[in-house]
Amino acid sequence: MEVTNHERIHADDRNLCKLAISELEGIYSELGLSMEELDLLDMPRRSFIVHFPVRMDTGKIKMFVGFRVQYNDARGPAKGGIRFHPDLTLDHVRDLSFLMALKCAVVNIPFGGSKGGVVVNPKGLSRNELEQVTRGYIRAIANHIGPFIDIPAPDVYTDEKIMVWILDEYERIKGEHVFAVVTGKPVELGGSKARSYSTSLGGIYVLEEAMKRMDMDKFEVSIAVQGFGNVGENAARILYEKGYKVIAVSDSKGGIINKDGLDIQAVMEHKGRTGSVVDFEGSTNITNEELLTCECDILIPAALSDQLNKDNAQNVRAKIVLELANAPTTKEADDIFFDKKIILIPDALANAGGVVVSYFEWIQNLNNDYWEEDKVRERLKKTMITAFNEVRLLCDEKSCRMRKSAYQLAIKRILHAERLRGNL
Ligand code: NAD
Repeated sequence: MEVTNHERIHADDRNLCKLAISELEGIYSELGLSMEELDLLDMPRRSFIVHFPVRMDTGKIKMFVGFRVQYNDARGPAKGGIRFHPDLTLDHVRDLSFLMALKCAVVNIPFGGSKGGVVVNPKGLSRNELEQVTRGYIRAIANHIGPFIDIPAPDVYTDEKIMVWILDEYERIKGEHVFAVVTGKPVELGGSKARSYSTSLGGIYVLEEAMKRMDMDKFEVSIAVQGFGNVGENAARILYEKGYKVIAVSDSKGGIINKDGLDIQAVMEHKGRTGSVVDFEGSTNITNEELLTCECDILIPAALSDQLNKDNAQNVRAKIVLELANAPTTKEADDIFFDKKIILIPDALANAGGVVVSYFEWIQNLNNDYWEEDKVRERLKKTMITAFNEVRLLCDEKSCRMRKSAYQLAIKRILHAERLRGNL
């Protein structure tokens, strides 16, 4: 049976956790954290395991298991996605919730981190069963989430439609409208404009700031993007619309290159017609491996983890790597890039635009005042550029890589909030 992207992303997150946790151990010792601080970071504040019944289409009742972990909420309500996956475990949810706390702290939005989900294969459910599983899970955790407690969002195998069921079930229980209980809703029901492409746009703002510092001219650089799904396609499209030369893109079937630049709008239409970017007229087909090592100034991995590794990192020719995917670079490749003076903008910063616009959705819901797209983009830009410069500053001071500075900054912010609260 073919493995879907969501299954790959679920498996990928394990790599992400491994990489981040190993990186964190080094950071803890460099920061010289006390035993109290280490203990505090080592444990989630709250972990819920819930079992709930669902009446299936056959009329029989089936019990399901769900999790919700609120890792840290010293900086504000916990924030994190809900995942439906048959292999979900409490440990994995806990690691992901910690990474959410770090991501929110890197971009300095007033949220802690959480994650949750149900152990279920959503492809084996009817639409009605999927809705009943969602509603059953929300009934089980309703007293532990809320706009000022913990705010769910979409994740692997959950989408806008499921966010609306979450909203509706929660509102039925509370007997009032509470749009701010969940983000990732459709615009017609409290969602934010620009959210659908916010991860890509946030990454591009950060990229442009890095280019400014490196005196790179927008009209002279060439860009390669690996992955043409939600994140990769939007990144390529936005860059193309801004006038950049995107010379190579790829998907799971392979890649294409044209040194003079691709017409991304036409590539999108081609993909819509044929299901892949491959065989696009006026381009040459290449493998994904060739894309990663092609002659370009900026490389954007936006597909899977571990794509840049010890086998190919030495051959990467880009000057900047923008990690829009989660954990696309292994530790070995990270070391090689550092030696080669390739600037790597790490995932915790580069792809945080999505959670930033979720924060904007929450603000709009609480104020019942909805922003124009331009305002969302403007505020996203400000948030991302500020975060980039803060990470970069720390990086310059310590002459270390950006991944390390991003995590250091996040840990310092979380511990500072705990200290102010008197928990340290
Ligand atoms: P998606 O499923 O929409 O797209 C994934 C793309 O990668 C598809 O085009 C697929 O064909 C392609 N792909 C699969 N295998 C490939 C391979 N071997 N080589 C090249 N391309 C391949 O997923 P997405 O939402 O775009 O997410 C992509 C990455 O970004 C993941 O790592 C995800 O965790 C991360 N991310 C996504 C968001 C978001 O808002 N969607 C936010 C943060 C991080």
